[in-house]
Amino acid sequence: MQHRVGFTQFLVGEQRAGRVPLDLRLLLEVVAHAARAIGAAVSKGALAGVLGEAGTENVQGEAQKKLDVIANEILLRANAWGGHLGAMASEEAETVCRIPSAYPRGDYLLLFDPLDGSSNIDINAPVGTIFSVLRNPRRKDEEPAEADFLQPGRAQLAAGYAIYGPSTQLVLTVGNGVHAFTLDRETGDFIHTHPFMTVPAQTREYAINASNMRHWEAPVRRYIAELQQGRGGPRGVDFNMRWVAAMVADVHRVLTRGGIFMYPLDEKCRAQGGRLRLMYEANPMALLVEQAGGAASTGRECILDVVPQRLHQRVPVILGSRHEVERLVSFHGAPAA
Ligand code: MN
Ligand code: MN
Repeated sequence: MQHRVGFTQFLVGEQRAGRVPLDLRLLLEVVAHAARAIGAAVSKGALAGVLGEAGTENVQGEAQKKLDVIANEILLRANAWGGHLGAMASEEAETVCRIPSAYPRGDYLLLFDPLDGSSNIDINAPVGTIFSVLRNPRRKDEEPAEADFLQPGRAQLAAGYAIYGPSTQLVLTVGNGVHAFTLDRETGDFIHTHPFMTVPAQTREYAINASNMRHWEAPVRRYIAELQQGRGGPRGVDFNMRWVAAMVADVHRVLTRGGIFMYPLDEKCRAQGGRLRLMYEANPMALLVEQAGGAASTGRECILDVVPQRLHQRVPVILGSRHEVERLVSFHGAPAA
């Protein structure tokens, strides 16, 4: 039988190479375990009564789906007792999620979007879980505060996501490339199926919510207009558009076969600073895309260099194939036409 490398064996290799301390490995294994449990809940769908609205709103005034709440509870519970974390932060919680006093605190901070793309749930389309790991700057006898989480994306020690689609995959970086693992539903193991994923520098595919076109800034209008002119325009080739409307699925496509994904600054989201959240959406995805040879920018600076001001801060996101991101970013610096 062909030898298959599982998630634990992969991480032990990273541990031996000095890239992953033991505590971080154990933390990542707990996250993988929680992702498997969330995937199981997601896949039961209507049979388990988990679809539909929770009837509540999260801290950002968005309607919560039942699965948003379930996924959040699975992550909080799974990560509470291991002793690896100083504290957690979640899209679904206004402030820091403390480790219960019954358990010891550890050296890391974990941030997550428990269920990304949850509006896809009711149409049986892909959703996912996005996570980011930072060093806990506090001593273990101190309670981390929100300010301790406000580290730029470059400080991430690990980042990744799980995507619950036709198969469940876990995509991870610990700073040595991007690796994807596919869940074997029969054995429960995440198998290392996609070592060193790379985003091609060039692409003919783009992803943007085109219903916001009237709100876009001039650089984005110019860039998209060029793509849409196709073979007869300045780019000289036809481009295709794809939009799943779940960041995790759109970024997974970019990591798998290239492309550019955009949720740029526009007049609709300007007051909020952007649409996607910096700490548990943009930063982990930016680290993955950079580790895969792509680029990630707000249009004005690298996402990973943004100095966070707030836990739930929003930022513009432009990520994917390097040449495309660089072109759109260069338009931001160009004088208005
Ligand atoms: Mn999300
Ligand atoms: Mn979410």
